[in-house]
Amino acid sequence: MKLVQLLPVGDMDGTLLRYLNDAIPRSLHVSCEILPAVLDPQPSYHPERQQYHSSEILQRMQSFLHPQTWRLLGVTSVDLYIPILKYVFGEAQMGGPCAVVSFHRLRQEFYGLDRDATLLGQRLLKEAIHELGHTLDLRHCHDHQCAMASAHAVEWIDLRESTLCESCNARVTSNAAVRA
Ligand SMILES: [Zn+2]
Ligand SMILES: [Zn+2]
Repeated sequence: MKLVQLLPVGDMDGTLLRYLNDAIPRSLHVSCEILPAVLDPQPSYHPERQQYHSSEILQRMQSFLHPQTWRLLGVTSVDLYIPILKYVFGEAQMGGPCAVVSFHRLRQEFYGLDRDATLLGQRLLKEAIHELGHTLDLRHCHDHQCAMASAHAVEWIDLRESTLCESCNARVTSNAAVRA
């Protein structure tokens, strides 16, 4: 079975990692494991933005790939950006193998609201499936319930399911067939 490996990027809450580890295989037909390694995000910190450049983190994740890795998903609490945007919830390499997601802006506390661990887990899972979808060559989907719908705010993530719509699922299957 295809193996998604979870790589903590910086200090990570073990509960969230274990939640993803259990939940991702229910959304995609993959198995999952948490790597014992940790990637330090500090070299990708840019003081002028007080944020971490996600493309640089993806670059540095390459050295954590194993022969058995199908997809490598970095998970982090730090605030991510790419130069053209104020922030990103995550970034992926189109076609794979690496993606990274941040839960920094998925926390209710970030918006001055009460902490909600269940909602945080759901949002992070949806974002993880979204970025993994990009590693499968999927682009954004017009179905706002599909995991591949674009989201520029957490409210949009909350509208999504943690699964792919029928047409995105069909695209993954046909992409895989082309490559086989
Ligand atoms: Zn996207
Ligand atoms: Zn879709």
